[in-house]
Amino acid sequence: PLRGKTALVTGSTSGIGLGIARSLARQGANIILNGFGEPQAIEAVRNALAESGDVHCTYHGADIEKADEIESMIRFAHEKFGGVDILVNNAGIQFVSSIVEFPPEKWNAVLAINLTAAFHTTRLALPHMLSKNWGRIVNISSAHGLIASANKSAYIAAKHGLLGLTKATALETAAHSVTCNAICPGWVLTPLVQTQVDMRAQQEGLSDVEIKKRMLSEKQPSGEFVSTEQIGETVAFLCSAAADQIRGISLPVDGGIVAQ
Ligand code: NAD
Repeated sequence: PLRGKTALVTGSTSGIGLGIARSLARQGANIILNGFGEPQAIEAVRNALAESGDVHCTYHGADIEKADEIESMIRFAHEKFGGVDILVNNAGIQFVSSIVEFPPEKWNAVLAINLTAAFHTTRLALPHMLSKNWGRIVNISSAHGLIASANKSAYIAAKHGLLGLTKATALETAAHSVTCNAICPGWVLTPLVQTQVDMRAQQEGLSDVEIKKRMLSEKQPSGEFVSTEQIGETVAFLCSAAADQIRGISLPVDGGIVAQ
């Protein structure tokens, strides 16, 4: 159903972004990968994705903390594919600290990557979508876009802000077949979360398995991690024709976290 469309997924060399790229390639969309990593590993991912959906898959290594690098990535998308039809703002970083001890430069980096980058990609990708009268923007927020926890102030502020940007974008595109929505994942076991598991295992002197059990029982009622594939398939649904009138929503895929 997405054959002939081009999807840019930021932060798709790992974790959730890679799961999203896999789902969209299976639907026939051409893929622009973005994110950091070893060139050989990225090349292997690129080849596997291209084969899996018989699609074109390319890579752009823009550091999305920098507006000028986002600009060259969107120019690259225009040169290669004529523009971005599906934009998934997924790249994100976490930093765990109390507000009092939060390094201001880390605050700026978390806001730049988790929120401001989505403003830049959106402002640069939208003209093409509006001119074609078709487009999909999916912002990967978090359960922490809807509720807070201690010691993640920058991330929580950025993810709440991203839901605001999602609603504003949905209203500015409402008269077109261009939709903008957000997904709010709960715990997904990716490198971003494994780092937090490792940190707590060290602090609390417990094993990897025990910490994971503890993290789930503290927050996630289902007691299971969300999978990257489940997030990928939710993005694919939001890109489908069935979702054409879904506008500006914040959709939790979180094992019940925000139902509590
Ligand atoms: P991850 O660390 O596995 O992957 C992050 C990706 O972003 C990587 O490809 C990395 O290279 C890329 N990236 C980081 N900084 C970048 C930059 N400056 N420029 C370009 N790319 C950059 O993380 P993940 O868990 O897959 O997270 C993906 C998104 O999902 C993030 O926005 C995260 O906040 C959100 N999320 C994750 C969880 C979870 O439990 N894992 C829960 C809720 C929300």
